[in-house]
Amino acid sequence: MTIGILGGGQLGYMLALAGYPLGLHFRFLDPSPEAPVGRIAHRVTAGFTDVQALERFAQGLEVVTYEFENVPVEAARLLAEKTAVYPPVNALHEAQDRLREKTLFTKLGIPTTEFAALETAEEFDAALVRFGLPAILKTRRMGYDGKGQWLLRTKEDVEHARRALPKVPLLLERFVAFDNELSMLGVRSKTGETAFYPVVENHHRKGILRLSIAPAQNLTNELQRAAEEASRKVLEALGYVGVLCIEFFEVGGQLLANEMAPRVHNSGHWTIEGAVTSQFENHLRAILGKPLGSTSAVGYSVMINLIGEIPEENAVLAVPNAHLHLYGKAPRPGRKLGHVTVCTDEAEKLRARLAVLPKFFQKPEFCLEAVGEKAGQAAKG
Ligand code: AMP
Repeated sequence: MTIGILGGGQLGYMLALAGYPLGLHFRFLDPSPEAPVGRIAHRVTAGFTDVQALERFAQGLEVVTYEFENVPVEAARLLAEKTAVYPPVNALHEAQDRLREKTLFTKLGIPTTEFAALETAEEFDAALVRFGLPAILKTRRMGYDGKGQWLLRTKEDVEHARRALPKVPLLLERFVAFDNELSMLGVRSKTGETAFYPVVENHHRKGILRLSIAPAQNLTNELQRAAEEASRKVLEALGYVGVLCIEFFEVGGQLLANEMAPRVHNSGHWTIEGAVTSQFENHLRAILGKPLGSTSAVGYSVMINLIGEIPEENAVLAVPNAHLHLYGKAPRPGRKLGHVTVCTDEAEKLRARLAVLPKFFQKPEFCLEAVGEKAGQAAKG
């Protein structure tokens, strides 16, 4: 049975690694001849708009899925005429545009960050009056890892934005002084069965995820329930199949949905060692209509992204229950090159290991900042 995957980055890589024990085969399509999956699977190098390549790619596939949400919707539609495509094309369509995504949250009664679509200078002015400063300006499409977004703190930032902004559809958002960033990974099978992972706590810097802790520290039953309810609403409204990630801001015990990703997600990498069934395996089970595996955490996990640099490998491997994942990508500043997951059976041990994480790095600043106060508190307490 061969699964087709659009996009050949590390998410696809880990999907394939999860699928091999299930006897699955994989075929990837990615425009880059350097896509990491080339090391482990059949990779077709072609653009997502190359109709002939897409038609050839689809031949003999059981199902097509994606690991990259900016695949053109037309490519997914074309493939859906030839074979099953999951998550459904409409989910891709909804998630690609921040305005549609936030409108969907609102329609489903899921609280979201306040936003305004901007098409004219007058709308920009009106939104600035409404939200005040700071505010966040985002491109509606193609934004990820902090790209396509600008924090406006001062009048000068606003003036600069007016002059320098790309001429693409934009959104202004109220700045949320959140207590925590959290995410929910939900999964829905072709059969309609659903399952939800414990809520994950995420730490970003410059818009890029640096570190996830699972289950989230200070997680309450109420927060877990609220995140599951939001996820269930989206899964059902879209007739969704596969893993869906929703990212939230937690403000005063309430959740505000920030965005969703119709695919496996970086904040779910901990599930490889830290949950009974990984997000990657459950995504595959879901799109094949197989029973879902348990989403329970087996202990406490912290996942740290290796961004721009790879630490001394032996130092990482010497940490008890640390798991190193390298994606085989050439180092470049800001690039996700791998991740490390550290698991423990007791939350207290996890805190102590969090405090040693910065020692992995030649330049520990970013890691220290990512761990931030939590590590400081852990080291003290
Ligand atoms: P996004 O691309 O929307 O996930 O944003 C990336 C990161 O920027 C988030 O994880 C937050 O850390 C920050 N961010 C985005 N939107 C807001 C907001 N409205 N208020 C405060 N921080 C934000």
